[in-house]
Amino acid sequence: MTDLTAFIAGLPKAELHVHHVGSASPRIVAELAARHPGAKVPDDPDALAEYFTFRDFAHFVEIYLSVVDLIRDAEDVRLLTYEVAREMAGQNIRYAELTVTPYSSTNRGIPDGAFVEAIEDARVAAEKELGVVLRWCFDIPGEAGLPAAEETARIACELQPEGLVSFGLGGPEIGVPRPQFKPYFDRAIAAGLRSVPHAGETTGPETVWDALTSLRAERIGHGTSSTRDPRLLEHLAERRIPLEVCPTSNIATRAVTDLEQHPLREMVAAGVLVTINSDDPPMFGTDLNTEYHIAARLLGLDAAGIAGLAKNAVDASFMDEGGKKALRAEIDGYLREFAD
Ligand SMILES: [Zn+2]
Repeated sequence: MTDLTAFIAGLPKAELHVHHVGSASPRIVAELAARHPGAKVPDDPDALAEYFTFRDFAHFVEIYLSVVDLIRDAEDVRLLTYEVAREMAGQNIRYAELTVTPYSSTNRGIPDGAFVEAIEDARVAAEKELGVVLRWCFDIPGEAGLPAAEETARIACELQPEGLVSFGLGGPEIGVPRPQFKPYFDRAIAAGLRSVPHAGETTGPETVWDALTSLRAERIGHGTSSTRDPRLLEHLAERRIPLEVCPTSNIATRAVTDLEQHPLREMVAAGVLVTINSDDPPMFGTDLNTEYHIAARLLGLDAAGIAGLAKNAVDASFMDEGGKKALRAEIDGYLREFAD
């Protein structure tokens, strides 16, 4: 397994389901907390590890929002974004579609233009200096309801920064039906954005159907409960609608009891295109390399199989064809080198 650990660490990877604020490592959160005395979040990394232990999904959302509250000005946004890219570079993540929630910041008084400029500055610098290509998914925080949806769609469509590729929906699913967000997704899709809502993480497969039919989802965030509906699995496989699977996150939020119960094997067996992701990595005590390791164990994969998972993420991404071809070739080259 040591060999595979090294293989995964050096493997060029793409990540499709990872949240902006949720990627703030204890080091970054401690820096932000120290910049904003009086915040609820502890400002030393050891206490933060304890703080990031969740009782359930609702508790996770509560802690997550307390970290969101630390992002108070454009400099916080820029610093967070660039530092997240630095941590990605350390794992050989070459491309990431980062889920960003502009509403959380504009609602706390950061002007939309300054927010967008801060993430774009960080994106350009990260690509040039760290070799990490960042793209954005602007997501609606579901718990904030339709006003948040309106604001997110407005920012996405009016400001449409160069790095923006998709439109999402996060936060709790229970009590937040997907179909109510249809008009906002319609606007985003009309503006050329791709639809990638979270669905079926803490609710059943009917929520995934809602995401497909009402929100015209092209990929599903999580989709964990899809395996409870064979017809849905068949549909996802036939239409090549990828699932963004985040194993450790599912355990941390209690969406799945334990890794042995994780439906990843059933998804793969049904022919669904699965991608492996870390969701909110430091908050869940994980990173993308660890998630690949877990997936390799659950699926019994060798190096070629793991490279296959990395290529799934490239295929399921919203990169242009040239970018996909280049990253696929890089993965293949790395695999050949490893096999020799
Ligand atoms: Zn997520």
